[in-house]
Amino acid sequence: MKTQRTISDIRTATPSSVGDGFVGLNAFHPQGSRPFNPFLLLDHHGPMQVQPSERPKGVDEHPHRGFETVTIVYDGALEHRDSAGNHGKLFAGDVQWMTAASGIIHEEKHEQAFSRQGGNLDFVQLWVNLRAKDKMSQPRYQDIASSRIPMGTLPNGGQLRIIAGELAGLQGPVNTFSPIVVADLMLASGQSETITVPADHSLMVYVLSGQAAINGKPIERGQVALTKIDGDTIDLSTTSGAKVLILAGEPIQEPLAVYGPFVMNTREEILEAFSDFQAGKMGVLQ
Ligand code: MN
Repeated sequence: MKTQRTISDIRTATPSSVGDGFVGLNAFHPQGSRPFNPFLLLDHHGPMQVQPSERPKGVDEHPHRGFETVTIVYDGALEHRDSAGNHGKLFAGDVQWMTAASGIIHEEKHEQAFSRQGGNLDFVQLWVNLRAKDKMSQPRYQDIASSRIPMGTLPNGGQLRIIAGELAGLQGPVNTFSPIVVADLMLASGQSETITVPADHSLMVYVLSGQAAINGKPIERGQVALTKIDGDTIDLSTTSGAKVLILAGEPIQEPLAVYGPFVMNTREEILEAFSDFQAGKMGVLQ
């Protein structure tokens, strides 16, 4: 017998910009991420109009340690380079799942040709926490072309793309360290679907565009609905259509120590991250 979850909160993202090329919204960030556990941050950059530029804009080189960064591109193109020697271009529909773990330095920019032409950019960046035992593991990079992401149709016609974990009988291509579900869902107007996730997972829904109702509660672009871990289903419905991001995962019940690009368990580990970064132990951008 499945039970419907209770909506515990609906929050509205706030304006946020990163570097010189990414403007949009922040739904939550590491300092306030406890209700979103195991997720640490959700930025939604765009839709924004990129003006043509010979020099690609974005975020210059910076470190990360202790978690994973996930980039999902919906429109436009991005280019990534890091200290582990990875270099990738992401186009509409592509996903990059980067495990910073023990430490990585990367830059995140508009893709070169896209930068020269300009155009519409729309993407999401999600930070996923790692358990203490995985925080100092080797960095890992999963570059997932959109063609590798399974798409499915829900019983009442909603279109689903599963990036990580399992939803509606589909399995995402990403390897994760702890149980996580990341999927995006397109609902046309007047649709209603029941979404089922494991009963022990946190579950939140972010609206990328349009408006929807979750268990009858209205939610619109730039808002995130949080559920209590008190059931396994939610009801998603639309009157005029929506694109939503579904995030679920097993909460990591460990202390959090957060400072900028480092998310560890203790203050000592944060200080160690700083000194390791300054000593060049996170490598050099390649
Ligand atoms: Mn970064």
